[in-house]
Amino acid sequence: MTSYKELGLVNTKEMFEKAIKGGYAIPAYNFNNMEQMQAIIQACVETKSPVILQVSSGARKYANQTLLRYMAQGAVEYAKELGCEKPQIVLHLDHGDSFELCKSCIDMGFSSVMIDGSGLPYDENVALTKKVCDYAHSQENYVTVEGELGVLAGVEDEVSHEESHYTKPEEVKDFVSKTGVDSLAISIGTSHGRCKFKPEQCTRNADGVLVPPPLAFDVLEQIEKELPGFPIVLHGSSSVPVEYVKEIEQYGGKLADSVGIPEDQLRKAAKSAVCKINIDSDGRLAMTAAIRKVFATNPSEFDPRKYLGPARDELKKLYMHKNIEVLGSANHLD
Ligand SMILES: [Zn+2]
Repeated sequence: MTSYKELGLVNTKEMFEKAIKGGYAIPAYNFNNMEQMQAIIQACVETKSPVILQVSSGARKYANQTLLRYMAQGAVEYAKELGCEKPQIVLHLDHGDSFELCKSCIDMGFSSVMIDGSGLPYDENVALTKKVCDYAHSQENYVTVEGELGVLAGVEDEVSHEESHYTKPEEVKDFVSKTGVDSLAISIGTSHGRCKFKPEQCTRNADGVLVPPPLAFDVLEQIEKELPGFPIVLHGSSSVPVEYVKEIEQYGGKLADSVGIPEDQLRKAAKSAVCKINIDSDGRLAMTAAIRKVFATNPSEFDPRKYLGPARDELKKLYMHKNIEVLGSANHLD
């Protein structure tokens, strides 16, 4: 048993309270390897932003859960080395699908977990989420839990759904009071992956670029009325920048029909009770664009540092932009 406090990590409690009051959202960035972790920490130290490091089930399979936990511990020390006196870093399990998995992460030093029972019938979602909360909250150091109501469309590692179902505002109060959950992921039109909408759901602008339907801010408003001041989470919130898609295609990639959530809509959401915004696909695109560019422009290069390095730099640039321009989390470290 390791407590996250021994690792220098924090839970999301205070972070979310401040974010709601301050009208910004905490970035939740997924990581699977050293370069991604370095880019996240460099960007968050430079922009003075708190951050949530997310581990998905795919990341656990790819990199190993134990290794990722030690990397998060290393991330705290790395942030200090970069000049951050009191880093605010959360290690969070993304889309936990069982009590056993959440428990194993908590026992290993995660400071926050998500239990995703959104695919289950309502009562089973309540029971499973409550079981995880009871365990997480009874720890000597309180571990925070994120639950989910409503279904997001799209594919994210092993989480996949054909269609989205908006969260029902009439259920949220009951869910939160019965489970004791600390934050709630909702579905208001965001979606996992790089193809967030089918082309037929979108219009096209003058350049032929797909323009997605707007987020359901009316549903978000109703949820905020039911749960005043309660932390709300948005998954699937990459904007899928056209520049990256174009660059990847310019250097031989194929990413037809990519479409994301426009950044101005995320900025608007971040000003509300939405206090955690998950961004994964944009990081994948940034890295892929940088690596493809090196391979295409310098075919004799074979030193991994010469393409993973530029990928890391591009990723850092992307995250700094998100913290400053989209989430508004920059300059919110104590
Ligand atoms: Zn998600």
